[in-house]
Amino acid sequence: MARTLVKTAASVADLARRPPSGLVVLCYHRVGGRTPVSVDLPTPLFADQIAELAATTTVLELDTAVERHLAGEDLSGHACVTFDDGTADIVEEALPVLERHRVPATVFVATRHVDEGVDFPGGGRVVSWAALADAAATGLLTVEAHTHGHLLCDRADPGVLADDLDRCRDAIAGALGRAPRHLAYPKALAPSPDNLAVVRARFRSAWVAGTRAVRPGDDPHLLARSPVQTADGLVWFRRKLAGGLGLEDRIRGAVDRRRHAGATT
Ligand SMILES: [Zn+2]
Repeated sequence: MARTLVKTAASVADLARRPPSGLVVLCYHRVGGRTPVSVDLPTPLFADQIAELAATTTVLELDTAVERHLAGEDLSGHACVTFDDGTADIVEEALPVLERHRVPATVFVATRHVDEGVDFPGGGRVVSWAALADAAATGLLTVEAHTHGHLLCDRADPGVLADDLDRCRDAIAGALGRAPRHLAYPKALAPSPDNLAVVRARFRSAWVAGTRAVRPGDDPHLLARSPVQTADGLVWFRRKLAGGLGLEDRIRGAVDRRRHAGATT
């Protein structure tokens, strides 16, 4: 209920000030609806969203979108699909839907979980390197970095983060034969200034939250994604696809800052 109120308020704010168009990068977490978390979408809803996306938008592979953004292009009418963490359902539930619609996607993987077979909080069963390799071989799923230990980049020590990011890169390159070029900050938290420099030295782009479109000139290491929740259904999903509901993110950010206080991963 509170979630719906926030979405309604955010859509009213969009009416007062129309959100700017640009590249919309969707941030999913889980598909299959097996766990109680708000970001675990039932597969039929995910399938409806991807069908809508494929019918209305040009979906780009993330690496292509970043290079075109860096070249100064306005990517209005384009979108990217991304997943965070690296759970088995991305390969088992989401990939068949993506294949049906020939929609490319990126999964940002916290590599320590995969290396050590450690599940994610809230019942998220971790994917294996073998399953990721099979998924990558379809040509539709690209594996990128989400740190090794799911480190929160607003508070991690810069030396610790540098070592962690190098381990993440080496793990992906070692398992899949291709080094990651892009990073999603864990919990979408923007990095401290020192950590931003650590990230700039290693990745072409890095992604925070924001629920808004990427505009020409946006800092490539502080790019915004739009998180998708089950409660978005199709109606609010369409608003997010139009670059809207930014107020939802600003409210969520304020709540999360209190919730994550004191955590490190
Ligand atoms: Zn994460």
